[in-house]
Formats: sequence, C-alpha cells, structure tokens
Amino acid sequence: MSNPVTAQEVKGNNQTGLKNPSAIPVVIAVPKEQAPGEQRVATVPEIVQKFTKSGYEVRIEHNAGAAAFYPDDLYRAAGAKIASGPAGLLDGARIVLRVQPPTVADVDQFAEGTIVIGFMNAANNLETIARMRDRKITAFSLELVPRISRAQSMDALSSQATAGGYVAAIMGADNCPKFLPMLTTAAGTIRPATVLILGAGVAGLMAIATAKRLGALVEAYDVRRAAGEQVRSLGAKFLELEINAEGQGGYARELTPEEKAQEQQMVSAAVARADIVITTAAIPGRKAPVLITRETVAMMRPGAVIIDMAAESGGNCELTQSGKTIREHGVLIIGPQNLPSRVPFHTSQMYAKNLQSFLSLLVDKEGKIVTDFTDEILVASLLVHAGEVRHAPTRDLLKGGKS
Ligand code: NAD
Repeated sequence: MSNPVTAQEVKGNNQTGLKNPSAIPVVIAVPKEQAPGEQRVATVPEIVQKFTKSGYEVRIEHNAGAAAFYPDDLYRAAGAKIASGPAGLLDGARIVLRVQPPTVADVDQFAEGTIVIGFMNAANNLETIARMRDRKITAFSLELVPRISRAQSMDALSSQATAGGYVAAIMGADNCPKFLPMLTTAAGTIRPATVLILGAGVAGLMAIATAKRLGALVEAYDVRRAAGEQVRSLGAKFLELEINAEGQGGYARELTPEEKAQEQQMVSAAVARADIVITTAAIPGRKAPVLITRETVAMMRPGAVIIDMAAESGGNCELTQSGKTIREHGVLIIGPQNLPSRVPFHTSQMYAKNLQSFLSLLVDKEGKIVTDFTDEILVASLLVHAGEVRHAPTRDLLKGGKS
C-alpha cells in the first residue's frame, strides 16, 4: 500500500523540523473533451468553487466548458487555473476528471499513479485499459458505481439517462407531423398523439414524464413488472404481459424464446398504433434486444417516428442505423448518439455533482486521499489500479484479446 496523500500534499521531507512544512495542494485536472460531438465537461464553476475551498488546486483546459456554455472566465472566478494545453494541465496532476474515456495517447500523458475518473466504456476501450494497467494509472469507471441508495448522488448513468429520456421525447415531438396535445379550436378538434415508450428504466420514465407534459397519450412497456407502478404513477398506461423478467440488481434478464415471441406480438400491436415510439430497452453488457422488427415497422402509420435510444448498443429496432436518420415505409427511424450531450449545460452540471460526490469517498476524515479503496462503491468501480485490471469481466476480455 502506498502512502496516503492529502489534499495538501507534503513536499519533500520535513528535515528542518519546522512545524509547518511547505505544502502543495492536490491538483485536479479537467481536460477539454475531444470525442466527436461531445459537448459536456466534467466539472462546472459551482463545483470548482467547492473543490478550491476544500484545498484542491483545480486546473481547467482552455475552453473545456465552452461547448456547455461555461466560459473560462467563470472557472477562473471560481478559483481555477486555466491551462492552455495538456502539458500545463497535467503536470503534477493527481486526479483527472473526464466525461468520455481517455484515449491511449491521453493515457501516455498521465504520470504513474494518476487517478482518472469518468465513463470508461471498458468493453469497447480495451487498448486504453491495457495502457492504463501498464502505466500504473488508477481508473474508476462511473458505469460500475453500484446502484445502492448511498451511491445515488454519484450515479452518473442515471443523471445522464434522465437527460437522454427528456431529449428523446422532445426529438420525437419535433419530428412528428402531429400536435401532441388534444386541441379544441375553432378549426376543429385535434386528437392527442399516442407515444409509446419501450423500456421504463431511468430514461424511459423521463421520456414518459416529458411526453405527458406535452399532452400526449402515453403507453409504456417493460419486462420488469415492478416498472408498472412507476409508469402508472406518471399517468401513463402500462402494457401488461404475463412475464416478469426482473433479474439481478433490479436489471432485466434475457427472455426465453417463447417469452420473446409473446412480447413481440404485444409490442407490435402497440407500436402499430403509436405516433411516436421511444425505445430504451437495454441489458447491461449485452447487445440491446430487438423489439421492433422490419415487419412491425411496415405495420406502422406513415409519419410515425421511432427514436431508438439503444442505437449505440445495437438498436431496439431492426432497421436502426446508429447516428443516422432513415425513412422506411414512411416511418422516420432515428438512431441518436450521445443524447445527454445535446443539453450540455445541465448534463455537465449533474455530472459534475456526481463526480464531486464520488470524490468525497476518496478523502478520509483527515482530508487525506485514501489509497486502500475499501469502500464498497470504490471497490466496485475500481477498473484499473497498480498495474492490475481489477474488474474481472474486463480482465477476461483482455485475456481473450491477449492484450
Ligand atoms: P437500462 O438502461 O439497463 O435498461 C432500460 C430499461 O429497459 C430497463 O427498465 C429494463 O428493464 C428494460 N428492458 C430490458 N429488456 C427489455 C425488453 N426485452 N423489453 C422491454 N424492456 C426491457 O436500465 P436503467 O434505466 O439503468 O435502470 C435499471 C434498473 O435499475 C431499474 O430497475 C431502475 O429503477 C434501477 N435503478 C436503481 C437505482 C438506485 O437504486 N440507485 C438507480 C438507477 C436505476
């Protein structure tokens, strides 16, 4: 175990015997996200102020928050130093906060022992994980934070999925040729549009709430029967099927072939009568289940819209193309990528709060940064540490690829 480091790191040995050895603060570095289309930033000025009050030095890369409408000046006013490039940013940095996973080139700029926290998307970034292992970087993956009540404030999957569900509903409304609410006008009465949400987890529930606020008739379906109560509490209709596929940890399990056929039939009928379908169904670590087949799309009304929130993990609609919008049988099928990035001001704010909560676990009662990581949340989310990949499924994937 290496020595703990405090938010005020002691510089060198106190050989002079002075009571107050010179101290240098622990540096938190926040780079500008480089992934195409990424507009979020890992911290915001309000949180920077809290970090600097706690004794950290915060460095922000020039324009890191510009796309989310947090200009450098606001960070500076909150006590951050603005670094013009990666060298000034990372020199002496102990902690790096990110939204998207680092690249191999990013990792090569981190000093040994640097703690990196953010989304790691490990299964799709094995080369980077191997490099972090080899360079003895410590990486915490926010996707691995367990969904226990104590971890709710650091649950970045939930904060970002909430935004995703909101944006999907707005996108559906924007692309629909109909009004969503019922209107009684001198020019006649307009019937409300029907919005169907498949998958009523965090994103699905937010999509339901948003579509309801826009005045649509909302129906929803999830394989977890427990979701029914939440759906109904939002004023939407829950489509019941004689299946309960609640698996471990509140997540859905995979359905049997017979269950899948039953589900297909009920889902197809509901999809065919909907004006907007928003799909969010996912099974962690696996390809998304196909809920809307090519044949079902052919049964839909011309002008109907599908927003496939599972596009990046294979899609819930057989025809979805990730990152593209296509029209088939008169139906618009949108496969959006990175929906949370479309509301970057608020998603950055929520994400920054998640990170601030997470960082509080890394500091002990005396204000020192812990290095033994015994807290169950740290244990679960520790991906790479001290030259080892600590997350078993990622380790197995790396062994498979022999990296
Ligand atoms: P997710 O993104 O993994 O999946 C989205 C939804 O798709 C889930 O509700 C899932 O049941 C559903 N789904 C999967 N296969 C399906 C299929 N074939 N047909 C229809 N629906 C299908 O889920 P999530 O939003 O991350 O949430 C997963 C669970 O975790 C939920 O029970 C949620 O309430 C729970 N949760 C708990 C906490 C907490 O306690 N801190 C925080 C967040 C989420």
